[in-house]
Amino acid sequence: KAKEAGRARMTLYDPSMDADREQRNALELDLRIAIESGDLTLAYQPLVDAATQALTGVEALVRWNRPGYGPVSPEVFIPIAETSGLIESLGLFVLRKACDTAKQWPELNVSVNVSPGQFRNPAFTDYVRYVLKQTEIEASRITLEITEGYMIQNPQRTRQSIERLKGLGVKVALDDFGSGFSSIGYLRQFGFDRIKIDRSLVMGVNEDKRQREMLQATVALARSLDIPVTAEGIETEGQAVAMRLFGCDSLQGYLFGKPMVAERITDMLNELRAAEPAAQRHLGAA
Ligand code: C2E
Ligand code: MG
Ligand code: MG
Ligand code: MG
Repeated sequence: KAKEAGRARMTLYDPSMDADREQRNALELDLRIAIESGDLTLAYQPLVDAATQALTGVEALVRWNRPGYGPVSPEVFIPIAETSGLIESLGLFVLRKACDTAKQWPELNVSVNVSPGQFRNPAFTDYVRYVLKQTEIEASRITLEITEGYMIQNPQRTRQSIERLKGLGVKVALDDFGSGFSSIGYLRQFGFDRIKIDRSLVMGVNEDKRQREMLQATVALARSLDIPVTAEGIETEGQAVAMRLFGCDSLQGYLFGKPMVAERITDMLNELRAAEPAAQRHLGAA
C-alpha cells in the first residue's frame, strides 16, 4: 500500500522499514557484544585428499550462538560486521584463534576465511604477520581464503596484497570459484596457491550435463595453470568420484565431515595416530 502511494511517502512512514532497521541494529549490537566478550567460536571442517581420503586439513568457520535467538549463519552476520566496522576485530579473533588451535594439529593445514573488508585494509598483512609471530605457528600451514568480489574492482591492489601475504609464507586460496563473476583470465596473474570450486557448481555434477561440462572445463583450466583445486560441498560418493575424476586433488563436504568443535578434530587425529602406520592418516568417509 505504501509502495503504491509513492516513494516519498514510503520513506516518510513505513512501519515495516522501522522494524527492519530496529532488528538490524539489535543484531549489530548483540554481535558487537559477542565479539567484545569473546562469545564467538570456531568450527572446523575436514578437508581430505581426493585419492586416499586422508585428512589433510581443516577449514575454520566462525559460529555465533546469539543469546535468546540461537545460531546465526555467518552468511547473515559477516556482511553486517562488514558494514558496521566490526569485521576488523571479528577477523582478528578468527585468525588468532585458528592459528592458536592449529598448533595442536601439526600434521594439518588450516584454512581461514578473509572477507573483502579485511583484505581491503592496507594493514591486513601487518596483522597477519603479527598473529603468526604471536601464535608461533608455521606460516606455511595457514591458507587464507578470499573471494573474488573485491578482486574484480581492484585487480592491481589485490595482486600486491596477495604477493605480500605470500611473502609471509602463508598460502592464498580463491574461495567460492564459479559462484560469481569468476574469470579464468584472473587466475594466472594473482598467483593463487589453490582454487576452491563453489558448492553450487558441485551440487549438480551428476544431474545436469551442461553443468558437468562447465565444471569439468573449469577444473581443467585451473589445472592447466598448475593450480590445485578443491571441491566444496561434497555430499555424495558420486560427487566425490566425479570431482576426483575431473582432477580435484582435495575434497570437502558433509560426506567427509560437517564443521565440528576443535576437540572432535583432535579425537579424530588421535584415532588416526593410534592406527597402524599403513592406515595412518586415513579418514574413512562417514
Ligand atoms: P565458505 O568459506 O565457502 O565455507 C563453506 C560453507 O559451506 C560453510 O558454511 C560450510 O558449513 C558449508 N558446507 C560445507 N560442506 C557442505 C556440504 O556438504 N553441504 C552443505 N549444504 N554445506 C556445506 P558456513 O559455515 O555457514 O559459512 C558460510 C560462509 O560464511 C563461508 O563460506 C564463508 O564465506 C563465510 N564465513 C564463515 N566463517 C567465516 C569467517 O571466520 N570469516 C569470514 N570472513 N567469513 C566466514
Ligand atoms: Mg571458505
Ligand atoms: Mg567456499
Ligand atoms: Mg561460501
